[in-house]
Amino acid sequence: MYKTISANSRSINWQFEPTKDEFLHSQVYIQLNTRMTMKVIKELFDDSSIFIEKIKTTSLLAKLYSGKIYDYCEKHKDCKCDYYDLSKICEHCDKTCEQKPARWGRGELSEEITGPFEFGKFREIEKYTKISLRLEEYKNEEYEAIVEGNKILVDGATLLEVFKYNVEKVRYSHNYDGMKKIYEDLQQEKKKKLVDFGIQ
Ligand SMILES: [Zn+2]
Ligand SMILES: [Zn+2]
Repeated sequence: MYKTISANSRSINWQFEPTKDEFLHSQVYIQLNTRMTMKVIKELFDDSSIFIEKIKTTSLLAKLYSGKIYDYCEKHKDCKCDYYDLSKICEHCDKTCEQKPARWGRGELSEEITGPFEFGKFREIEKYTKISLRLEEYKNEEYEAIVEGNKILVDGATLLEVFKYNVEKVRYSHNYDGMKKIYEDLQQEKKKKLVDFGIQ
């Protein structure tokens, strides 16, 4: 498996981490040589049970995340505390919050065992898609965009405007009826534009 992945990758950054329930998993960041469909990526990992989610973020952030020293605090779902510098505390947290060491062994194993490991040459990419193996992170990153959408809705934007604003950040395609409504609104908008131009 490792061979196929490395043959298809420009660089891989990863480390071993425990989940909340102390199961071993790895946090992986891969830069692929070519564009690949999710199906091919799954085949590459040779395990169809792996949960893979695409996330739009910056390459540097993803690389840093794949080698993070500390976890987010468990008390606050929206915690954005720094996962390298414990003195940088987010707005949700205070000094009573705890950020556990993120790596396998919770700080008691050497980096030779836990990582972070690096293969190939990392290159900074402006925009790229991250593959995540865990659902929670995805929710965290989407959450911000949803809150931002709510704010502009309160400020008087239409639902369609919110959709356009978040089109690359929020997953709208999981609900057929929702998609249908968006499609209808887009059609309506198109029609209205034609009327405005006096074409119809
Ligand atoms: Zn926090
Ligand atoms: Zn907290």
